Formats: sequence, structure tokens, C-alpha cells
Amino acid sequence: MKALVKTQKGRGYLELKEVPVPKISDDEVLIKVEAAGICGTDFHIYNDKFPYWPPVILGHECSGTIAATGNNVADWHVGDRVVGEPHTMACGKCYLCRTGNPQICASKRSPGWGVDGAFAEYMRWPETRLLHRVPASLQFEAAVLCEPLANVVSDMALNNIITVGDVVVVAGTGPIGIMAAVVARQVGARHVVLIGRNESKMAIARRISAIDEVVNIKSNDVVDLVIGLTDGRGADVFIDASGSAEALASGAQMIRKLGTFAGIGFSDNDTIDFPYRQLMMKGVKFLFNISTKYESWDRSLALLESGSIPYEKIITGRRRIDEWEEVFEDPRGRESLKDIFVF
Ligand SMILES: [Zn+2]
Ligand SMILES: [Zn+2]
Repeated sequence: MKALVKTQKGRGYLELKEVPVPKISDDEVLIKVEAAGICGTDFHIYNDKFPYWPPVILGHECSGTIAATGNNVADWHVGDRVVGEPHTMACGKCYLCRTGNPQICASKRSPGWGVDGAFAEYMRWPETRLLHRVPASLQFEAAVLCEPLANVVSDMALNNIITVGDVVVVAGTGPIGIMAAVVARQVGARHVVLIGRNESKMAIARRISAIDEVVNIKSNDVVDLVIGLTDGRGADVFIDASGSAEALASGAQMIRKLGTFAGIGFSDNDTIDFPYRQLMMKGVKFLFNISTKYESWDRSLALLESGSIPYEKIITGRRRIDEWEEVFEDPRGRESLKDIFVF
């Protein structure tokens, strides 16, 4: 089978290779990958800016059909439609695992960077307890969004950062920022403003009805807009899905005193200028989240099934795996919002 492999450490070193279909042990299942999402994390791995264990087949966002089951697997059957939480190889013994947080266990090796992932026709799924059933009415293409959406749901819904009636500003017009804006509306925001700088992605966001306003941070005075919307008080919640210093600076200006500031976007930079004094003087709560919990997967599948997430607007490119070079070339200059590989 063809597989997109990060062959060694360093920038680049991505190759489409012919590899054998993986063999499964008694406790594993083999998944025929139907669709796999290309994520910012894949670009970070390509650029050597995220942990990974090469040689490794990339791809951690996927949906598929079970093609074979190991002898000890009783709960899953050939033909079942699935998505899976990527928390494989969490140790189960450390402080984090034992407090219900295997998603950040130091031993975790996710499919797609720690063990072989979904940019291939077939993948081995090592821990069947991490699988979730895809509802019959949900297309594989939509189910691909479950992993990034589960991140957003973990960040926002499980952390209860939004209260009904809040004015929420989201920075970043990638899939995470756009889904965060949609989820903000779902959990009760009264006004959702999305800010960004990529006009083609902003045009996509403007077609999504859950988002009230999409404003270019470069050309409009978004701080005045938000202050105006809130009788001078400022936004209740600011969510950064951009990892950009400029967005953090404007967020610090527009957030209200005692508001909530959440960082959900990964940055290529190890350090970013941070408006420490301004946020401190406003008594702002600051939250980070990384990765997903079991509950956020169930909730994400339910949101996708209900039609609340406009996946057909978010997925803007469908590619064959042979076209991988076009996807990984110059991602910043690209107009596509979310590309997926279809098999
Ligand atoms: Zn991802
Ligand atoms: Zn652990």
C-alpha cells in the first residue's frame, strides 16, 4: 500500500512509499482508512516543530471501516465505521493517567507521529477502547473533523469557558478558529466575532451563519468594534487559535476586566510576546488546553451528526495521497481551509 512517511528528523523528509499492509496482534484492529484530515500539526511535523518518532506514517485525523479484528477483540466487527482517540500507549500508571488524563501522558505515542498513522490505505489501531462508532447518518468526510472538533470541545465546552449571553472573540481563521467560533455560538454566546488576516479563509468564515462578524485584524479597528458591542466593557471571552503575538496584543486590549482568555492554537514559535501586565491588571483568567478527552469525542460526534458543524464549508480540498506535495508545499500561502485525503 502507499503511505506518506516522515522518514527522519529534520525539515522535510516526507516521502510517499510503498509499504506492507500492517499486521495486527490479537488485541488490535485493522482499519481501512476512508478519509484523513491534514492538520496544522502535520505541517509542524514536516517543519520539525512538533515531537515525532521517525520513520512514521503521518495522519492523526481519520475515519475508516474495520477491515480485520484480532482474536481477542469482541466488541468490534469487520465493517464497523469508526474514529479513534489518538491516546495510544499512555501508560495507565502515571499521575496523569490515574487522574483521568491519558491524553497528556508522557508515554503516549499517537498514531500519526508516535506510531504509524492514517496517511495510508490501512492502519493498525492498537487500543480498541479508544475507538468510537461513527453514526450511520454521518459521512466519513464529516467524521474526519471529529479529532480537531474534540480539541475545540475540550477547550471550550468541557472547560466551561463560555456563559450564555457572552460576547466571544476568536482569533484565527483556520479550521480550529472557525470551529471554535461555531461551538461558541452552540454553547450560548450572544455575539461571536472572528478575527484574522487571511482574506480567502475569512471569506469562507463569512458564509457560516453561526459567526456574526469576521474582521480583518490588519484593516479594521476590531478593538473599537468589540468595545462598542459591549457598552465599553470589552469581550467576555477571547480565544486565541492563531498563536500570533499581534492577536494576543489585540485580545488583551479588547477583553473585559475579569474576562477569560484561552489559548487553543499551536504556534511554530517557542516564545511569543505576551501582554502580561495588561492581562494581569484586568484580572483575566488564562487557560490552556492540549488534546482531547473521551467525553469530547462523544459530544463532537453528536454535534457533527446534528448538522451544527458546517463541515462541507470547512473541508475545502479533497486529495489523493499521490497529490501530497501540492498539499505540503507552502501551506501559508494556500487558500484551502482544510484538505483531506480520500482513499
Ligand atoms: Zn490535528
Ligand atoms: Zn501515563
